[in-house]
Amino acid sequence: MRRLSIRWRITLWNTLAFAVILIGFGITVFLLLLQTHYQQVDRQLSNRLERIQQDPQLATAGVARLETLLHEHGGHTHSLGLARSEAGQWVGYTNALTERDLAALGNVNGPAPVKTMSLPDYGRARVLSGTITVEGEPLELLLLADLEHMDEEMALVLWSLLGTTPVAILLAAAVAYFLARQSLAPVQQLRRRTDQINAQHLSQRLPVSNPHDELGLLAQTINSMIGRLERSFQEIQRFTADASHELRTPIAVIRSEAELGHEHAADNEKAQQRFSSILEECGRLGRLTEQLLALCREDAGVTQMNFAEVDLAEVVSECVEAMRPLADEKQQQLLADLEVGANISGDAQRLRQLTINLIDNAIKYTPQGGQIEVTLKPQGNTQTLTVSDTGIGIPTGQAERIFERFYRVPSTKTQKQEGSGLGLCIVQSIATAHGAPVVLQSEGATGSTFMVHFPRSS
Ligand code: ADP
Repeated sequence: MRRLSIRWRITLWNTLAFAVILIGFGITVFLLLLQTHYQQVDRQLSNRLERIQQDPQLATAGVARLETLLHEHGGHTHSLGLARSEAGQWVGYTNALTERDLAALGNVNGPAPVKTMSLPDYGRARVLSGTITVEGEPLELLLLADLEHMDEEMALVLWSLLGTTPVAILLAAAVAYFLARQSLAPVQQLRRRTDQINAQHLSQRLPVSNPHDELGLLAQTINSMIGRLERSFQEIQRFTADASHELRTPIAVIRSEAELGHEHAADNEKAQQRFSSILEECGRLGRLTEQLLALCREDAGVTQMNFAEVDLAEVVSECVEAMRPLADEKQQQLLADLEVGANISGDAQRLRQLTINLIDNAIKYTPQGGQIEVTLKPQGNTQTLTVSDTGIGIPTGQAERIFERFYRVPSTKTQKQEGSGLGLCIVQSIATAHGAPVVLQSEGATGSTFMVHFPRSS
């Protein structure tokens, strides 16, 4: 039941409640009708008995008068009467009853004056017993009413109820489903709109059509939650931007001081080593603050993109040459296969950053003597930049996460390399700004291949 949607649950409960009420109502109506019929038959029987008992000639005119009376007052097959002496002998009766019926009626006794009986040939009957006196002899008078007609009527009512109830339940289910759908439609809409509001669209709010109904109140609650989220988000952004901005100057000062120190400690090898390590850390901090600043600008929507016709092959070739010394340092082979004439519409500066980040990662995560290959080829309507390496690879299941901010694969091989976990995030945001999906082509223990599909400028 819990797996069902609310819409179906409401439908089921409504239908169930309706079915219980309808069946209960049907049973009550049927029983009341039955009771009314019996009361009617009983009233007719007792009227007949009263009239016969009050007949002035009966006491003197004998059994012949009794038989006349029985005929007069309902002497047809639906309504019979017969009298029995104290010794149990039938002394007067209408001829419609067979021997077997009479034998069955012979057993009628006891205090209850009205009984429902099933006679072998006559069928179901209502029997009323009373006493009369004929020629001074007390007789027991039995008056019968045939129930066949009433049974037929009641059977008709029963079949009508049985036939219409399932149809009514089905109709009620359809109506309940329709109503549940109608009343839940605004909830669906609310969910869709809430889904659309993510970190990049926190300034949006849900529409509140009626601020006083349940959905309006829910929308207002969600809106105020989004408002709080937006404020926290802005504060974090402002803090990160301010912090990275403020860090730039001290880092630059430390770097120039360390460079000076490095120069002055020319004859002290240990001091030189320390200054070198300070310089290295300064470089790392500098890159990190630049990356953070770039992301903050992006989040705040103040990154200026200067789109123009760009020869991607030229941009990538420049990046490959700029990174070659790093690859050479690790005795890695850096190969490039770039098809010329790969023009796209983009921001050359940002495209350079994207390519450098990818090649930098390939160099970092590929051991000494490995191979890195950069290709640029047309593929359908796209220019595809591919950077593949023979490095440590990216474990299966990490493909989504490596593009998250500050995420680094938790392996010792990765952690040995310097990094902040922001490079690929920047790659993705630059690619997205160019309408280009970034795909990690290969997962596994050896080698990684990143592909960026840039739409070709028409
Ligand atoms: P980092 O500064 O750590 O390199 P990135 O955002 O550039 O941050 O990359 C995120 C993570 O993705 C890295 O920490 C690394 O685990 C993994 N990764 C990225 N590129 C490669 C690659 N070419 N080979 C293996 N792992 C990689």
